[in-house]
Amino acid sequence: MIKQLIFLIVLLITLVVFAYSMMRYFRYFEFTKKKPLGNLCKRLWITTKIALFQEKILRRPVVGLMHALVWWGFILILFGSIEMVIDGLTGTEKIFAFLGPVYDFLMASGDVFALIIALAILAFLFRRLFMHIKRFYGPEMKPVSKADANLALTIILALMVTLLGMNTFYVAWAHRVGDGIVGIYPVSERLASFFMNMSPDNSYLWYEINWWAHIVLIFIFANILPYSKHFHVFMSVPNVFVSKLTPLGSVENMDSITKEVKLMMNPETAFAAGSESDAPPERFGVKDVQDLNWINYLNSLSCTECGRCTSVCPANITGKLLSPRKIMMDTRARMKEIGPDLIKNGSDFNDGKSLLFNYITEEELWACTLCNACAQECPVNINQPAIILDMRRYLVMEESKAPSGLNSVFANIENNGAPWQFSPQDRMLWAEGLEVPLLASKTEKPDFLLWVGSAGAFDDRYKKVMRSFVKILNHLNMNYAVLGTEESDSGDVARRAGNEMLFQMQALTNIEILKGYEIEKIVTCDPHDFNTLKNEYPDLGGKFDVEHHSVFLQKLIDSGKITLDKGELSGKKITFHDPCYLGRANGEYEAPRSVLKAISSVNIEMPRNKSFALCCGAGGGQMFKEAEKGEKEVFIERTEEALSTGCDIIATACPFCMTMMTDGIKYKNKEESVKNYDIAELLSMGLGLA
Ligand code: SF4
Ligand code: SF4
Repeated sequence: MIKQLIFLIVLLITLVVFAYSMMRYFRYFEFTKKKPLGNLCKRLWITTKIALFQEKILRRPVVGLMHALVWWGFILILFGSIEMVIDGLTGTEKIFAFLGPVYDFLMASGDVFALIIALAILAFLFRRLFMHIKRFYGPEMKPVSKADANLALTIILALMVTLLGMNTFYVAWAHRVGDGIVGIYPVSERLASFFMNMSPDNSYLWYEINWWAHIVLIFIFANILPYSKHFHVFMSVPNVFVSKLTPLGSVENMDSITKEVKLMMNPETAFAAGSESDAPPERFGVKDVQDLNWINYLNSLSCTECGRCTSVCPANITGKLLSPRKIMMDTRARMKEIGPDLIKNGSDFNDGKSLLFNYITEEELWACTLCNACAQECPVNINQPAIILDMRRYLVMEESKAPSGLNSVFANIENNGAPWQFSPQDRMLWAEGLEVPLLASKTEKPDFLLWVGSAGAFDDRYKKVMRSFVKILNHLNMNYAVLGTEESDSGDVARRAGNEMLFQMQALTNIEILKGYEIEKIVTCDPHDFNTLKNEYPDLGGKFDVEHHSVFLQKLIDSGKITLDKGELSGKKITFHDPCYLGRANGEYEAPRSVLKAISSVNIEMPRNKSFALCCGAGGGQMFKEAEKGEKEVFIERTEEALSTGCDIIATACPFCMTMMTDGIKYKNKEESVKNYDIAELLSMGLGLA
């Protein structure tokens, strides 16, 4: 009875302290913006794949498996912990023993996993203490962060040792008193053989000591977690459940801007639509934690500080200030700082500081290429680029603060419908000497619209790619058309540079034109425009069937419409650079590789390829601005990686990647020996059309 009483008191203290800690965190949610969820089935499926089966962490098999085993072990051991709590409260011994074989299985697997987890934790501690793993370091990783990680690992190790100790002395005691052993303990039965000479009283005493040590450690751990990076033990599953469901490359629409843009474009209709314009103006973008939505904040609470995101961030790899892990840690720290004052003084409280400027600098934000490598890598599905982009939106739309290169881009898009200073009337010059049908002059409806994109129309190098692509289309007598001077910039760069207003103006204008021609299918060579048209235009009413030219060409090859005799290109060593907005953003890795397989037999992969591919450095508006200071430019890092394969050709499938790779080859003085071609150019050469 005394044991039960003591247990009850310890449990109550634990629960009260835990509830207090959780309340503090959860009260801060009320100061964040609302965001609806929805799509329960898809969310459950993602949670099963990522949280339960650890799909993302297993992308890196060795360390991933160790982490996954620890996680699965925890889930199994949880059953035993629940039993201990009930036993502690009711004075019973192994209350779930009535489950028979199920109980035997759970006890046996818990016992084995206790050993596996202990060994894995020893390996993790060894890595942290004696191996210099880069991702565990960084300016944001203060000594307290490292101590926190080591403390948590040590407690987990102690938990496993006491669990094995408890089982071992229970088995030794049961043997000595001649009682049948309840449950199966494959590891502890072996360990118990060392204690068979111990008196039953002593074995029982050691069993009790381990039992209490184990349960008290669980209680202590549970109360340390909310103040530690290991809070993710609680938060990661809910975080995965609420994670982004749309393709990585898609950006969420700002409905508040849509209202403004519609009002500007068509005041009469907008006023007639009702009182939307009467709503109090909200701040565009994010300046402080109160501007974040609750999922952003949950993301920050779920961050394990593992640094996987930072270790793949092209900006960070090349020595820039940006670290996506720091973005999450800063968000959490800022809420912790201002949260108590918000509770005390209300949501309008202003302490003169903000997340942007005092924690996260403009230099960090503008270094991001929005490549989504961080989001792809994060084991708990945190969306770091969302916060970065929302802060850019604040800078651009509230404070008119953007790097000068981007300001020129905004002005050019607004005036010329392209990021460069060319006349919109020159949009068809790329096609000079070729027969390229204009939609306006077509008498029959084309099978698809060829979306040329601003780079295809104005970038000298990419104009050649467009020419190669239409030569293939003409060679196959395809029924297509282009918009010509009616086409305008998709708005992709404007959106990713934070100018949501300009993006939506471009998008709504283009959608109106496309709808006017009743366009259903669009093919484009630009993965950025592909992503925007496919994933983002639907939010503004433009739903089209959009295909990237890699997929389009792959289908032509697969259907036998294009047959290639492997000619002079067949012996060339080709390496493919995955464009972020085709690969990671939209999951298309195989189509360009299939096209290349039809061209050459010697396709070699770079060390970082497919979903692990390094960005070329041009995305997120970087193409049009000076790079932030660092040790190296991203395009040089990527070109060096491509050249390390010993390739003859770096193949690309994106205008921005092409510019970066071409510059990289020039920078490395390899223009003579290494060429950069788009897959359409290679195919066109293979067909003898070039
Ligand atoms: S999107 Fe890319 S550049 Fe930006 S923080 Fe993530 S990994 Fe770094
Ligand atoms: S954001 Fe994700 S990947 Fe980055 S440190 Fe946190 S948990 Fe790790």
